[in-house]
Amino acid sequence: MKTILRKKAVESHQWWNTAQSILQLGTLTGLLSLMCWLLAGTLGIAFATGTVLLTLWFLPRSPAILMRWHQGRLLRTEEMPWLHQIQKDLAKRAGFVWSPVLYYVPSSALNAFAVGNRQEGGIAVTDGLLRTLSYREIRAVLAHEMIHLQHNDVSVMLLSSIVGRLVYWLAWFGIALILFSLPLSWLYGQTVPWFWLLMLMAAPWLSLLLQAGLSRTREFQADLGAARLTDDPQALIQALTKINPGSSAPVHSGDFTLLRSHPATSERIARLASISQAVWEPRDFLWCDFNRPSYLSWTKRRYGWQ
Ligand SMILES: [Zn+2]
Repeated sequence: MKTILRKKAVESHQWWNTAQSILQLGTLTGLLSLMCWLLAGTLGIAFATGTVLLTLWFLPRSPAILMRWHQGRLLRTEEMPWLHQIQKDLAKRAGFVWSPVLYYVPSSALNAFAVGNRQEGGIAVTDGLLRTLSYREIRAVLAHEMIHLQHNDVSVMLLSSIVGRLVYWLAWFGIALILFSLPLSWLYGQTVPWFWLLMLMAAPWLSLLLQAGLSRTREFQADLGAARLTDDPQALIQALTKINPGSSAPVHSGDFTLLRSHPATSERIARLASISQAVWEPRDFLWCDFNRPSYLSWTKRRYGWQ
């Protein structure tokens, strides 16, 4: 049995995810602009824009440098030709001019993650993932990461993180200014700006909620894109179930879901199931030959799927 996509459901989910992303990122940058304007007017907005752009410009973007931080190394074609073939096929389907480079991370965790962007990107897969998942499931996970690169999600999340940090520091700067000016306000009978004080105290929390919400939306969008790219939503459902065992259980009631950077696996599976339709037809690549990694020098470093 295989599953195919229900086109109408896919389109409506995609539209909703895009609208949500624009709203979340727009509100986050709006929040930063408002705080800059409150503290220093238009000069403050210009300063924040310059800081964000300079930080984005100077942060390392090269996949090779970023992978060194994750202890990853290049995965040569001769080591796993089938994995490179999947990567090439998916990149071609996704309309990439250059196929993202594959990296191997010697970790027992079941994980894959993307670094860089559409023009210069890399996808890392861990030893644990290559040993545990089936051919179809690995293909689905690679497609998920490929969509992150296609949508420049790494840069989007980096931007939201920089904006979030600035909101945090500016909020505390503003709170300190108001608190230090309290004696003067009381001395000269001026009104204390309680409303702005409360707003500055709420701003870092609001920014955290927006960042987490944006991250979850990008995850849903990558799942949807992967299902479209592979035309095999069932494979991603199976991969998610293996990566997070027990994921079919509802979200733990103690979790504060609004602050989670990743959606609950049960919710991701439910969304994928809602756009899928089962049909009776065997998939030819189910019987493809593929080799597992033969390296045993992995570390015990812990990763979460991104
Ligand atoms: Zn992801």
